[in-house]
Amino acid sequence: FLPGPDSRVKGPLPEGTYRPGELKGIIKINQNKCVGCDTCREQCPANAIRGELGVAHSIDIMKCITCGQCLINCPFGAIEQMSFVEEVAKKLEDPQTTVVAITAPAVRVAIAEEFGSPPGTLTVKRLHNALRKAGFKMYENNLAADQTIMEEGFEFIAKVRYWLLGERSEELKEMADHPLPHFTSCCPAWIRYAEIYHPQLLPHISGAKSPMQMAGPSAKTWAALNIWKVDPRKVYTVGIMPCTAKIFEASRPEFKSAYEFLKNNGSIPKDTSPFPDIDAVLTTRDLATLLKMKGINPLEMPEEGENDPLDIYTGAATIFGNSGGVMEAALRTAYYVLSGNDPPSWDIYAVRGHTTGLKETEIRIPLKSGNSIDVKVAVVNGIKNHLDEVIGDVIQGTSKYHFIEVMNCPGGCINGGGQPVNPMGTSW
Ligand code: SF4
Repeated sequence: FLPGPDSRVKGPLPEGTYRPGELKGIIKINQNKCVGCDTCREQCPANAIRGELGVAHSIDIMKCITCGQCLINCPFGAIEQMSFVEEVAKKLEDPQTTVVAITAPAVRVAIAEEFGSPPGTLTVKRLHNALRKAGFKMYENNLAADQTIMEEGFEFIAKVRYWLLGERSEELKEMADHPLPHFTSCCPAWIRYAEIYHPQLLPHISGAKSPMQMAGPSAKTWAALNIWKVDPRKVYTVGIMPCTAKIFEASRPEFKSAYEFLKNNGSIPKDTSPFPDIDAVLTTRDLATLLKMKGINPLEMPEEGENDPLDIYTGAATIFGNSGGVMEAALRTAYYVLSGNDPPSWDIYAVRGHTTGLKETEIRIPLKSGNSIDVKVAVVNGIKNHLDEVIGDVIQGTSKYHFIEVMNCPGGCINGGGQPVNPMGTSW
Protein backbone atom coordinates (compact mmCIF):
# COMPACT_ATOMS: atom_id res chain seq x y z
CA PHE A 1 0.00 0.00 0.00
CA LEU A 2 2.95 2.39 0.10
CA PRO A 3 3.22 4.64 -2.96
CA GLY A 4 5.99 3.81 -5.40
CA PRO A 5 9.10 5.87 -6.06
CA ASP A 6 7.52 7.64 -9.03
CA SER A 7 5.28 9.70 -6.76
CA ARG A 8 8.28 11.50 -5.31
CA VAL A 9 9.74 14.80 -6.44
CA LYS A 10 13.13 14.53 -8.09
CA GLY A 11 15.66 17.07 -9.24
CA PRO A 12 17.37 20.09 -7.70
CA LEU A 13 16.34 21.87 -4.54
CA PRO A 14 13.70 24.56 -4.86
CA GLU A 15 15.31 27.96 -5.27
CA GLY A 16 15.78 29.91 -2.05
CA THR A 17 15.65 26.79 0.13
CA TYR A 18 18.79 27.92 1.89
CA ARG A 19 21.58 30.40 1.39
CA PRO A 20 24.90 28.59 1.67
CA GLY A 21 26.79 31.84 2.24
CA GLU A 22 24.94 32.27 5.50
CA LEU A 23 26.27 28.99 6.80
CA LYS A 24 29.75 30.47 6.92
CA GLY A 25 30.86 30.74 10.50
CA ILE A 26 27.92 29.06 12.25
CA ILE A 27 30.39 26.30 13.10
CA LYS A 28 34.07 26.86 12.41
CA ILE A 29 37.40 25.30 13.32
CA ASN A 30 39.96 27.61 14.89
CA GLN A 31 43.09 26.89 12.85
CA ASN A 32 45.32 28.03 15.71
CA LYS A 33 43.90 25.48 18.13
CA CYS A 34 43.18 22.47 15.92
CA VAL A 35 45.82 19.73 16.09
CA GLY A 36 44.17 17.54 13.42
CA CYS A 37 43.25 14.74 15.86
CA ASP A 38 40.31 13.60 13.67
CA THR A 39 37.77 13.37 16.53
CA CYS A 40 35.49 15.77 14.67
CA ARG A 41 35.60 13.61 11.56
CA GLU A 42 34.50 10.58 13.61
CA GLN A 43 31.60 12.54 15.11
CA CYS A 44 30.42 14.38 12.00
CA PRO A 45 27.22 12.76 10.64
CA ALA A 46 27.57 14.53 7.29
CA ASN A 47 31.17 13.82 6.24
CA ALA A 48 31.86 17.56 6.24
CA ILE A 49 35.34 17.61 7.83
CA ARG A 50 38.35 18.20 5.57
CA GLY A 51 42.05 17.82 6.33
CA GLU A 52 44.66 15.16 6.99
CA LEU A 53 45.51 13.61 10.32
CA GLY A 54 47.89 15.87 12.25
CA VAL A 55 47.07 18.95 10.16
CA ALA A 56 44.51 21.61 11.15
CA HIS A 57 41.10 20.62 9.79
CA SER A 58 38.37 22.72 8.21
CA ILE A 59 34.65 22.37 7.49
CA ASP A 60 33.12 22.01 4.04
CA ILE A 61 30.16 24.37 4.45
CA MET A 62 28.33 22.85 1.49
CA LYS A 63 28.16 19.56 3.42
CA CYS A 64 27.92 20.85 7.00
CA ILE A 65 24.51 20.47 8.64
CA THR A 66 25.56 22.79 11.52
CA CYS A 67 24.63 20.29 14.24
CA GLY A 68 27.66 21.11 16.41
CA GLN A 69 28.43 17.52 17.39
CA CYS A 70 32.03 18.20 16.31
CA LEU A 71 32.15 21.18 18.67
CA ILE A 72 30.94 19.42 21.81
CA ASN A 73 33.29 16.50 21.18
CA CYS A 74 36.53 18.33 20.28
CA PRO A 75 39.05 17.45 23.01
CA PHE A 76 41.04 20.64 22.29
CA GLY A 77 38.19 23.16 22.35
CA ALA A 78 39.16 24.13 18.80
CA ILE A 79 35.66 24.34 17.32
CA GLU A 80 33.59 27.49 17.73
CA GLN A 81 30.05 28.60 16.99
CA MET A 82 28.55 31.89 15.87
CA SER A 83 27.53 33.90 18.93
CA PHE A 84 24.72 36.41 19.41
CA VAL A 85 25.55 37.06 23.08
CA GLU A 86 26.76 40.65 22.60
CA GLU A 87 23.92 41.58 20.26
CA VAL A 88 21.30 40.21 22.68
CA ALA A 89 22.99 41.98 25.63
CA LYS A 90 22.74 45.29 23.73
CA LYS A 91 19.06 44.72 22.90
CA LEU A 92 18.34 44.02 26.57
CA GLU A 93 19.77 47.46 27.40
CA ASP A 94 17.45 49.19 24.91
CA PRO A 95 14.20 50.31 26.60
CA GLN A 96 12.49 50.61 23.19
CA THR A 97 12.93 46.92 22.41
CA THR A 98 10.83 44.05 23.75
CA VAL A 99 13.29 41.16 23.94
CA VAL A 100 11.56 37.79 24.00
CA ALA A 101 13.09 34.53 25.24
CA ILE A 102 11.84 31.36 23.53
CA THR A 103 13.35 28.62 25.65
CA ALA A 104 13.51 24.96 24.61
CA PRO A 105 12.97 22.22 27.24
CA ALA A 106 16.45 20.70 26.89
CA VAL A 107 18.01 24.03 27.94
CA ARG A 108 16.37 24.07 31.33
CA VAL A 109 17.69 20.58 32.10
CA ALA A 110 21.29 21.24 31.11
CA ILE A 111 22.03 24.82 32.09
CA ALA A 112 22.50 23.94 35.78
CA GLU A 113 25.79 22.28 34.73
CA GLU A 114 27.14 25.66 33.64
CA PHE A 115 26.52 26.89 37.19
CA GLY A 116 28.21 23.94 38.88
CA SER A 117 25.20 21.75 39.67
CA PRO A 118 24.06 18.41 38.26
CA PRO A 119 21.84 18.45 35.17
CA GLY A 120 18.17 18.79 36.00
CA THR A 121 18.77 20.75 39.21
CA LEU A 122 17.08 23.84 37.86
CA THR A 123 13.32 24.29 37.90
CA VAL A 124 11.45 25.97 35.09
CA LYS A 125 10.28 28.77 37.37
CA ARG A 126 13.84 29.58 38.45
CA LEU A 127 15.05 29.76 34.87
CA HIS A 128 12.12 31.94 33.84
CA ASN A 129 12.74 34.24 36.80
CA ALA A 130 16.41 34.52 35.82
CA LEU A 131 15.42 35.41 32.25
CA ARG A 132 12.89 38.00 33.46
CA LYS A 133 15.53 39.50 35.74
CA ALA A 134 17.84 39.78 32.71
CA GLY A 135 15.11 41.77 30.94
CA PHE A 136 13.41 39.18 28.75
CA LYS A 137 9.71 38.64 28.19
CA MET A 138 8.90 34.94 28.09
CA TYR A 139 7.30 32.97 25.27
CA GLU A 140 7.51 29.34 26.35
CA ASN A 141 8.77 27.22 23.46
CA ASN A 142 6.62 24.35 24.74
CA LEU A 143 3.48 26.33 23.94
CA ALA A 144 4.66 26.32 20.32
CA ALA A 145 5.68 22.65 20.55
CA ASP A 146 2.03 21.84 21.28
CA GLN A 147 1.11 23.72 18.09
CA THR A 148 3.80 21.80 16.17
CA ILE A 149 2.45 18.47 17.29
CA MET A 150 -1.09 19.41 16.35
CA GLU A 151 0.12 20.35 12.84
CA GLU A 152 2.39 17.37 12.43
CA GLY A 153 -0.09 14.92 14.00
CA PHE A 154 -2.98 16.12 11.84
CA GLU A 155 -0.82 15.89 8.71
CA PHE A 156 -0.07 12.29 9.60
CA ILE A 157 -3.75 11.61 10.22
CA ALA A 158 -4.58 13.07 6.80
CA LYS A 159 -1.98 10.80 5.17
CA VAL A 160 -3.37 7.77 7.03
CA ARG A 161 -6.87 8.59 5.80
CA TYR A 162 -5.68 9.10 2.21
CA TRP A 163 -3.08 6.34 1.80
CA LEU A 164 -4.19 3.66 4.28
CA LEU A 165 -7.94 4.12 4.47
CA GLY A 166 -8.39 5.08 0.81
CA GLU A 167 -10.38 8.27 1.43
CA ARG A 168 -10.30 10.40 -1.73
CA SER A 169 -12.15 13.51 -0.59
CA GLU A 170 -11.47 17.04 -1.85
CA GLU A 171 -10.12 17.91 1.62
CA LEU A 172 -7.41 15.24 1.35
CA LYS A 173 -6.46 15.48 -2.32
CA GLU A 174 -3.16 17.28 -1.75
CA MET A 175 -1.96 14.23 0.21
CA ALA A 176 -1.44 12.58 -3.18
CA ASP A 177 1.79 14.61 -3.35
CA HIS A 178 2.81 13.76 0.22
CA PRO A 179 3.36 10.03 0.48
CA LEU A 180 3.95 7.81 3.47
CA PRO A 181 6.06 7.29 5.41
CA HIS A 182 5.63 10.62 7.13
CA PHE A 183 8.84 12.15 8.56
CA THR A 184 9.19 14.60 11.44
CA SER A 185 10.44 18.08 10.59
CA CYS A 186 11.53 19.84 13.78
CA CYS A 187 15.26 19.01 13.69
CA PRO A 188 16.92 21.56 11.36
CA ALA A 189 20.08 19.47 11.00
CA TRP A 190 17.99 16.55 9.73
CA ILE A 191 16.17 18.85 7.30
CA ARG A 192 19.42 20.17 5.92
CA TYR A 193 20.78 16.62 5.67
CA ALA A 194 17.72 15.60 3.67
CA GLU A 195 18.01 18.65 1.41
CA ILE A 196 21.67 18.02 0.64
CA TYR A 197 21.80 14.26 0.43
CA HIS A 198 18.25 13.01 -0.24
CA PRO A 199 16.08 15.78 -1.73
CA GLN A 200 13.68 13.16 -3.12
CA LEU A 201 12.52 12.65 0.47
CA LEU A 202 11.22 16.19 0.89
CA PRO A 203 7.60 15.40 -0.07
CA HIS A 204 7.53 12.87 2.78
CA ILE A 205 8.64 15.36 5.42
CA SER A 206 6.06 17.16 7.52
CA GLY A 207 5.39 20.75 6.54
CA ALA A 208 5.06 21.74 10.21
CA LYS A 209 7.60 24.33 11.34
CA SER A 210 9.73 23.59 14.36
CA PRO A 211 8.46 24.96 17.70
CA MET A 212 10.98 27.83 17.58
CA GLN A 213 9.79 28.86 14.13
CA MET A 214 6.16 28.74 15.27
CA ALA A 215 6.89 30.70 18.44
CA GLY A 216 8.71 33.53 16.61
CA PRO A 217 5.83 34.67 14.38
CA SER A 218 3.26 34.13 17.15
CA ALA A 219 5.35 36.33 19.47
CA LYS A 220 5.71 39.06 16.83
CA THR A 221 2.02 39.08 15.90
CA TRP A 222 -0.48 37.72 18.43
CA ALA A 223 1.56 38.23 21.62
CA ALA A 224 2.99 41.62 20.55
CA LEU A 225 -0.44 43.04 19.69
CA ASN A 226 -2.62 41.33 22.30
CA ILE A 227 -0.48 40.47 25.33
CA TRP A 228 2.41 42.92 25.49
CA LYS A 229 0.63 45.60 23.41
CA VAL A 230 3.83 46.82 21.72
CA ASP A 231 4.88 47.70 18.18
CA PRO A 232 5.71 44.34 16.54
CA ARG A 233 8.65 46.01 14.76
CA LYS A 234 10.23 46.54 18.19
CA VAL A 235 9.94 42.89 19.21
CA TYR A 236 13.29 41.05 19.12
CA THR A 237 12.90 37.27 19.40
CA VAL A 238 15.66 35.09 20.83
CA GLY A 239 15.51 31.31 20.48
CA ILE A 240 17.32 29.81 23.48
CA MET A 241 18.18 26.39 22.20
CA PRO A 242 20.32 23.31 22.89
CA CYS A 243 21.23 23.39 19.22
CA THR A 244 23.62 25.17 16.86
CA ALA A 245 21.56 24.13 13.81
CA LYS A 246 18.83 26.43 15.12
CA ILE A 247 21.14 29.35 14.18
CA PHE A 248 20.97 28.13 10.61
CA GLU A 249 17.23 27.50 10.79
CA ALA A 250 16.53 31.04 12.00
CA SER A 251 18.52 32.44 9.05
CA ARG A 252 16.43 30.69 6.40
CA PRO A 253 14.89 33.27 4.05
CA GLU A 254 11.43 31.68 4.07
CA PHE A 255 10.96 32.37 7.79
CA LYS A 256 9.56 35.91 7.55
CA SER A 257 5.91 35.08 8.08
CA ALA A 258 5.28 37.62 10.86
CA TYR A 259 6.48 40.39 8.52
CA GLU A 260 4.23 39.16 5.68
CA PHE A 261 1.20 38.79 7.97
CA LEU A 262 1.58 42.19 9.64
CA LYS A 263 2.20 43.97 6.32
CA ASN A 264 -0.82 42.35 4.67
CA ASN A 265 -3.24 43.11 7.51
CA GLY A 266 -2.08 46.71 7.83
CA SER A 267 -0.51 46.41 11.31
CA ILE A 268 2.79 47.77 9.99
CA PRO A 269 3.44 50.21 7.11
CA LYS A 270 3.76 48.61 3.66
CA ASP A 271 7.28 50.00 3.24
CA THR A 272 8.65 48.33 6.41
CA SER A 273 11.87 46.45 5.66
CA PRO A 274 11.53 42.67 5.99
CA PHE A 275 12.46 41.21 9.37
CA PRO A 276 12.99 37.58 10.40
CA ASP A 277 10.67 35.61 12.67
CA ILE A 278 13.61 34.80 14.95
CA ASP A 279 16.23 37.53 15.36
CA ALA A 280 18.90 35.63 17.29
CA VAL A 281 19.66 32.22 18.73
CA LEU A 282 21.53 31.61 21.98
CA THR A 283 22.75 28.11 22.78
CA THR A 284 22.61 26.83 26.36
CA ARG A 285 26.29 27.75 26.68
CA ASP A 286 25.58 31.25 25.36
CA LEU A 287 22.75 31.75 27.82
CA ALA A 288 25.08 30.84 30.68
CA THR A 289 27.60 33.41 29.37
CA LEU A 290 24.91 36.09 29.15
CA LEU A 291 23.55 35.40 32.64
CA LYS A 292 27.08 35.41 34.10
CA MET A 293 27.78 38.76 32.36
CA LYS A 294 24.71 40.11 34.13
CA GLY A 295 25.63 38.55 37.50
CA ILE A 296 22.54 36.33 37.53
CA ASN A 297 22.72 32.75 38.84
CA PRO A 298 19.47 30.97 37.93
CA LEU A 299 20.02 28.44 40.73
CA GLU A 300 19.63 31.25 43.25
CA MET A 301 16.37 32.57 41.83
CA PRO A 302 13.06 32.04 43.69
CA GLU A 303 10.80 29.10 42.84
CA GLU A 304 7.65 31.17 42.62
CA GLY A 305 6.63 32.96 39.52
CA GLU A 306 3.85 34.86 37.87
CA ASN A 307 1.20 32.92 35.95
CA ASP A 308 1.93 33.82 32.38
CA PRO A 309 -0.58 33.08 29.57
CA LEU A 310 2.41 32.31 27.34
CA ASP A 311 3.63 29.65 29.74
CA ILE A 312 0.89 27.02 29.38
CA TYR A 313 1.69 23.70 27.75
CA THR A 314 1.31 19.92 27.92
CA GLY A 315 3.75 17.17 28.86
CA ALA A 316 3.80 16.14 25.19
CA ALA A 317 5.63 19.39 24.43
CA THR A 318 8.23 18.87 27.14
CA ILE A 319 9.26 15.42 25.84
CA PHE A 320 10.30 16.96 22.49
CA GLY A 321 13.74 17.38 24.08
CA ASN A 322 14.37 13.63 24.07
CA SER A 323 14.75 11.15 21.25
CA GLY A 324 11.31 9.68 20.52
CA GLY A 325 9.48 12.57 22.17
CA VAL A 326 8.06 14.04 18.98
CA MET A 327 6.91 10.59 17.83
CA GLU A 328 5.31 9.82 21.19
CA ALA A 329 3.48 13.15 21.20
CA ALA A 330 2.26 12.69 17.61
CA LEU A 331 1.08 9.14 18.25
CA ARG A 332 -0.95 10.28 21.26
CA THR A 333 -2.71 12.85 19.06
CA ALA A 334 -3.21 10.40 16.17
CA TYR A 335 -4.63 7.72 18.45
CA TYR A 336 -7.04 10.11 20.11
CA VAL A 337 -8.27 11.69 16.87
CA LEU A 338 -8.60 8.48 14.84
CA SER A 339 -10.20 6.38 17.61
CA GLY A 340 -12.14 9.07 19.46
CA ASN A 341 -10.73 7.70 22.73
CA ASP A 342 -7.69 8.05 24.96
CA PRO A 343 -4.98 5.44 24.26
CA PRO A 344 -4.65 2.57 26.80
CA SER A 345 -1.54 4.38 28.09
CA TRP A 346 -0.13 7.83 27.31
CA ASP A 347 3.37 6.38 27.77
CA ILE A 348 4.79 4.82 24.63
CA TYR A 349 8.04 3.50 26.06
CA ALA A 350 9.10 1.64 22.90
CA VAL A 351 10.01 4.92 21.21
CA ARG A 352 11.21 6.88 24.24
CA GLY A 353 14.76 7.77 25.27
CA HIS A 354 18.38 7.02 24.39
CA THR A 355 18.09 3.23 24.30
CA THR A 356 19.18 2.12 20.84
CA GLY A 357 20.10 3.82 17.56
CA LEU A 358 16.90 2.68 15.87
CA LYS A 359 13.67 2.19 17.83
CA GLU A 360 10.55 0.78 16.23
CA THR A 361 7.10 -0.29 17.29
CA GLU A 362 3.62 -0.98 16.01
CA ILE A 363 0.50 0.60 17.49
CA ARG A 364 -2.99 -0.77 16.87
CA ILE A 365 -5.48 2.09 16.59
CA PRO A 366 -9.19 1.22 16.73
CA LEU A 367 -11.12 3.37 14.26
CA LYS A 368 -14.48 5.04 14.76
CA SER A 369 -15.82 2.78 11.94
CA GLY A 370 -15.21 -0.30 14.10
CA ASN A 371 -12.15 -1.46 12.10
CA SER A 372 -8.59 -0.88 13.23
CA ILE A 373 -5.22 -0.08 11.70
CA ASP A 374 -1.71 -1.03 12.71
CA VAL A 375 0.63 1.95 12.51
CA LYS A 376 4.31 1.07 12.21
CA VAL A 377 6.74 3.71 13.40
CA ALA A 378 10.50 4.15 13.70
CA VAL A 379 12.72 6.58 15.59
CA VAL A 380 16.19 7.26 14.21
CA ASN A 381 18.13 8.24 17.33
CA GLY A 382 21.06 10.10 15.76
CA ILE A 383 21.67 10.52 12.02
CA LYS A 384 24.70 8.21 12.07
CA ASN A 385 22.47 5.44 13.44
CA HIS A 386 20.71 3.44 10.71
CA LEU A 387 19.36 6.50 8.88
CA ASP A 388 20.79 5.52 5.52
CA GLU A 389 19.24 2.04 5.62
CA VAL A 390 15.88 3.44 6.79
CA ILE A 391 15.73 6.05 4.05
CA GLY A 392 17.19 3.65 1.48
CA ASP A 393 14.04 1.56 1.90
CA VAL A 394 11.86 4.66 1.58
CA ILE A 395 13.58 5.66 -1.66
CA GLN A 396 13.18 2.10 -3.00
CA GLY A 397 9.48 2.17 -2.05
CA THR A 398 9.92 -0.83 0.29
CA SER A 399 9.76 0.86 3.70
CA LYS A 400 7.63 -0.95 6.27
CA TYR A 401 7.09 2.21 8.29
CA HIS A 402 4.29 4.77 8.22
CA PHE A 403 5.92 7.41 10.40
CA ILE A 404 9.62 8.06 11.08
CA GLU A 405 11.17 10.48 13.57
CA VAL A 406 14.68 11.64 12.80
CA MET A 407 16.77 13.61 15.26
CA ASN A 408 20.34 14.40 14.34
CA CYS A 409 21.79 14.17 17.82
CA PRO A 410 21.96 10.81 19.61
CA GLY A 411 19.58 11.03 22.58
CA GLY A 412 17.82 13.98 20.91
CA CYS A 413 18.14 17.68 21.69
CA ILE A 414 19.17 16.96 25.27
CA ASN A 415 22.54 16.06 23.70
CA GLY A 416 22.49 18.87 21.16
CA GLY A 417 25.52 20.72 19.84
CA GLY A 418 24.59 23.81 21.86
CA GLN A 419 24.60 22.06 25.22
CA PRO A 420 27.36 22.18 27.84
CA VAL A 421 30.37 20.21 26.65
CA ASN A 422 30.25 16.65 27.95
CA PRO A 423 33.75 15.40 28.81
CA MET A 424 32.54 11.82 28.25
CA GLY A 425 31.77 12.62 24.59
CA THR A 426 28.83 11.54 22.47
CA SER A 427 28.05 7.85 22.17
CA TRP A 428 26.31 7.20 18.85
FE1 SF4 B 1 19.28 20.43 17.09
FE2 SF4 B 1 17.87 18.61 18.47
FE3 SF4 B 1 18.36 18.26 15.86
FE4 SF4 B 1 20.35 18.04 17.62
S1 SF4 B 1 18.53 16.71 17.50
S2 SF4 B 1 20.45 19.15 15.66
S3 SF4 B 1 19.77 19.60 19.12
S4 SF4 B 1 17.11 19.89 16.78
